[in-house]
Amino acid sequence: MCPSLLRSVWGTFTALQWCFWGILGAEHSGRYGMVFDAGSSHTSLYVYEWDSDKENDTGVVSQTLSCDVQGPGISSYANNPPKAGDSLKECLDKALKVVPTEKQRDVPVYLGATAGMRLLRLRNSSAADQILAEITKTMQEYPVAFRGARIITGEEEGAYGWITINYLLESFTKYSPKAHTWVRPEAANILGALDLGGASTQISFIPKGSVINWNETSRFMLYGYNYNIYTHSYLCYGQNEMVKRLAKELILQGEELVLIEHPCYPKDYNETISLSSFHTSPCTNASDPRLSPSDRNVTLEGRGNASGCLVAIRKLFNFSACGQSQDCTFDGVYQPPISGQFFAFSAFYYNFKFLNLTEGQSLATVRETIERFCTRSWEDLSSSYPEENPGRLPKYCANANYILTLLLDAYKFNESSWNNIVFQMKAGSADVGWTLGYMLNLTNMIPAEAPGLLKGQAP
Ligand code: AMP
Repeated sequence: MCPSLLRSVWGTFTALQWCFWGILGAEHSGRYGMVFDAGSSHTSLYVYEWDSDKENDTGVVSQTLSCDVQGPGISSYANNPPKAGDSLKECLDKALKVVPTEKQRDVPVYLGATAGMRLLRLRNSSAADQILAEITKTMQEYPVAFRGARIITGEEEGAYGWITINYLLESFTKYSPKAHTWVRPEAANILGALDLGGASTQISFIPKGSVINWNETSRFMLYGYNYNIYTHSYLCYGQNEMVKRLAKELILQGEELVLIEHPCYPKDYNETISLSSFHTSPCTNASDPRLSPSDRNVTLEGRGNASGCLVAIRKLFNFSACGQSQDCTFDGVYQPPISGQFFAFSAFYYNFKFLNLTEGQSLATVRETIERFCTRSWEDLSSSYPEENPGRLPKYCANANYILTLLLDAYKFNESSWNNIVFQMKAGSADVGWTLGYMLNLTNMIPAEAPGLLKGQAP
């Protein structure tokens, strides 16, 4: 584990400490916590472990297990809520196998649902409540300390992702063997977080100067220091909702046509969709007067047109709502100028990993690679990537152009600040997402005060 980490994470990150913990991790015998990340497209369960003696120190939590729940995200069970509860059992059973029986009753278990459930709640709040109730019922059948299933806010999702990264990379506090105490690393080591899900996307960072708009700010006192972070979550700007919105706009531009050219899909690739599918998400707005109530099928024909794809995607953002303001992304949303280094995870990472763009390539190379990829035919792609999920393969061009538009046009990264983004999925052996930060917060594992001296042993 250690050498690849040393390669993939910047040298300034405490890679050696990670190696040390990796070895220690195998001998952990302390306490456990579990968090379900109930995303829009799928649910994952994470089991964390830490040494109870060191609870108030940093860097001691490791990820013992992650389990992907079979089937779709929990919001897909609106018509059969008990199945949402059932879907979690396989992972729960697996997770309990890694926890000693005598400790299971003390294991705090949380479920946080994100944008898929935020959207379902907007559309049908009683269905969302029933799903959470069924999940609660299932969890209560297990011998664990279940602490609730809830829909977390977009701002929580962004802020907990930010905490997770900076906790794992020891940017808040770090043990100095020389001084035999915990020290505060350079403030510049704190990273921003970029998270892209299926239904929403989050950005969180410490702005340089003072924050003008306090509505968008989360305040944390961690290890004796105050942090004011800007965080914003954009509902409907996750990549699956974006692909749907793009299809809807292309179809509406084509008026009554049943064959529509799709610039982002590969040449020779066809997809038939029913207009009724747009009625199932508030993002493709059921009340849009341009969508006739009558259902019909439309076929989207791939054109593999990279520049056309970028143009079509830009139209999904209302940039003009920002006027001349530089402190604004789109739709009139305030954002202070981006500052510092960023960790881009989840679908930012998946798409760029697929395109071999996670090795710190320049923006020019990234643009070129995406453009080239977009012009490849479906025949070429499907024979070149026989192992790839066939549902995902035709969407990488749209997703990648979407990521470029979001990062460059909306968030305003440029040629030089582009190099401050690292596309990664893990920090050490733990997956990066909001779940660890959520658990650390709810179990009070990050103290507000500075950590004291660790007596008698190295961390
Ligand atoms: P969510 O379910 O909201 O967390 O969304 C995760 C997004 O990443 C969805 O758009 C998924 O389709 C996508 N995704 C998840 N796993 C992978 C993967 N292994 N490769 C590519 N995309 C993925």
